[in-house]
Amino acid sequence: MYLAENELKVFHNISLLYPLAGPKLRKGEAMGKLSPLKDAYIVVGGGKVKEIGTGDAYKRHGRAELISLEGALVLPGFIDSHTHLVHAGSRENEMRKKLAGVDYLDILKSGGGILATVRATRNASFQELYREAEGRLKNMLAFGVTAVEAKSGYGLDLETELKQLEVVRKLNQNLPQTLVPTFMGAHALPEGYQSRKDFLELMKRVLDAVKEGRLAHFVDIFCEEGVFSAEEAREFLGHAQAKGFGVKIHADEMNALGGAAIAAELGAVSAEHLLNSSEEDLRKLAESETVAVLLPLTSFYLNKNFAPARKLIDFGAAVAIASDYNPGSSPSENLQLAMQLAVLKMGLTPEEVLSAVTVNAAKASGLHSKGSLEPGMDADFVVLAARNLDYVFYRFGINLVREVYIGGKRVLRREP
Ligand SMILES: [Zn+2]
Repeated sequence: MYLAENELKVFHNISLLYPLAGPKLRKGEAMGKLSPLKDAYIVVGGGKVKEIGTGDAYKRHGRAELISLEGALVLPGFIDSHTHLVHAGSRENEMRKKLAGVDYLDILKSGGGILATVRATRNASFQELYREAEGRLKNMLAFGVTAVEAKSGYGLDLETELKQLEVVRKLNQNLPQTLVPTFMGAHALPEGYQSRKDFLELMKRVLDAVKEGRLAHFVDIFCEEGVFSAEEAREFLGHAQAKGFGVKIHADEMNALGGAAIAAELGAVSAEHLLNSSEEDLRKLAESETVAVLLPLTSFYLNKNFAPARKLIDFGAAVAIASDYNPGSSPSENLQLAMQLAVLKMGLTPEEVLSAVTVNAAKASGLHSKGSLEPGMDADFVVLAARNLDYVFYRFGINLVREVYIGGKRVLRREP
């Protein structure tokens, strides 16, 4: 696309810019090897990055609009690659049970947990679901999140699963962020079903309707003791692949069922959680192109161990960090806090975490034009009240975002 000079914007006076240029999947050591630019600028046209550079070389674009970013740190927009965004209701009534040591899977067995959210979501109107999810997306935007993967899975029936995905579609049309819809009807066995086989057959029919309506890019399943077995996960995801969907898997969160190995074997785009995967399975994942999506807010909130992030990276895997926003085990939109926990509790470096919420998160979400700031990519970036990358992890628990740009347009400004 040819653009006249006066259609360009030049963002200059950036003290430090991390463009994340280069590989679109950063595995192992590559996650920590970034090349930041000092005294940088970004030239944007038609919503895309046209050029990045340093010093005053931007001055040759004499007729472009000049925008000073006031000496800030600039990073690619953060991508939250694992959320359960659309649901009704809240579950603060379970918090004290969890703190008293009642097991999550026991809460589920007694009709709480996911099943409580399913009841609330089935009873909610499209408008109610839309408004609640819209509020969450606004919170995410304030934390610098410019793209969000959003799973269904609180319907567990045809009508409500489609309703959730239709809400995602409308949010994607109306809000500045990009949403990536994932069908996760295989999230729990709903009340009234005895046979997992019968339920998965129903979910295959729902999947046909999802395909027909072009309502999801990915299919996910909760592979866990008391939920769906490794064999059921392999079969269901294989079926989804045959229908043309990319696949993801909730793997080895509480028990080592081999979900990580299934992800590698199927060529899944991502394997998520991985708290209890065997070392052998982590190595299989590291050899594959599957992104390990790790969710430290959930570990923090449930008082559990953190996933073996350091080990995965040392084995050569591609790691992403996401919020796992959901009303039960991670009721927070604060991806910055997840990033900080990854450094403070999981042994990752700030550079590795930055790769984990940009390029690798883009890969895990199938977003090929996002995750880095180099010519041809979407001009999605975050302006932070920080002078260097370490500061973002040092000043934990607060929001350091000053401005958010999506497609070169400012969509948020705040005083941190
Ligand atoms: Zn999840």
